[in-house]
Amino acid sequence: MFKIGCHLSISKGFEHIGKEALSIGANTFQFFTRNPRGAKAKEIDIDDINKLLKLMKENNFAKVLAHAPYILNACSSKEETRDLALQIIQDDLMRMEYLPNNLYNFHPGSHVGQGVEVGVNQIADMLNKVITKDQTTIVLLETMSGKGSEVGRSFEELSEIISKVSNNDKVGVCLDTCHINDAGYDVVNKLDDILNNFDKIIGLDRLYAVHLNDTMNPTGSHKDRHQKLGEGYIGLGAVEKIINHEALRDLPFYLETPNDIEGYRNEIEILKQLYRD
Ligand code: FE
Ligand code: FE
Ligand code: ZN
Repeated sequence: MFKIGCHLSISKGFEHIGKEALSIGANTFQFFTRNPRGAKAKEIDIDDINKLLKLMKENNFAKVLAHAPYILNACSSKEETRDLALQIIQDDLMRMEYLPNNLYNFHPGSHVGQGVEVGVNQIADMLNKVITKDQTTIVLLETMSGKGSEVGRSFEELSEIISKVSNNDKVGVCLDTCHINDAGYDVVNKLDDILNNFDKIIGLDRLYAVHLNDTMNPTGSHKDRHQKLGEGYIGLGAVEKIINHEALRDLPFYLETPNDIEGYRNEIEILKQLYRD
């Protein structure tokens, strides 16, 4: 089954987002756990969540992906900023248990001059404090473009973080195609090598999700500017290879392309035609 969805707004609730996903031909979606810039989350509405769970079951949805707010930085040089990241992720993970067995993605962080090694340790420390052995949610580290001092710009950096987490059976990776291309992985010409490399360094069993985006900038630019599918440096030919690749084809794909709802509907339709059953 082709698992495809896009980023949608949760502002009108869980049932609404499920219906919206269905209406554009998606069978999963990504959402921000709270305002991407603010820290306040809505009250938990069990009734609304149960309606979504029912809709997901009836329509054979794939796992949904929650995305932590962008402002979090688990490897800030300021202790209060690191604490805030810890508190929010802990609260998000507690909330995720109302939506059991799904995925939670976050940006590892920016070391802001402290160096990658310090950053890796601080991120791992945070994960060691928030991950519990009984949680049903898998926490995903997103592959980053390496803009500024972002940690997670290479598979090696992600692997180091994971190796320092005790309950790391709850930790995985979300591969963002825009980000890895911007980070220097040549998605168009070297997809097989990249995935072999991923398998050697992290292990493909850790790969749970793909953020499917084109990019406005060439390989190695470290920019992180997403583009609509087929309108950037990755192109539809490479997108077709990505969604059909043996190592990826069974994973859920989430679009984070600059689109309104009609644009997403259109991209999902194109992808369904490119996917080989
Ligand atoms: Fe992200
Ligand atoms: Fe992403
Ligand atoms: Zn991005």
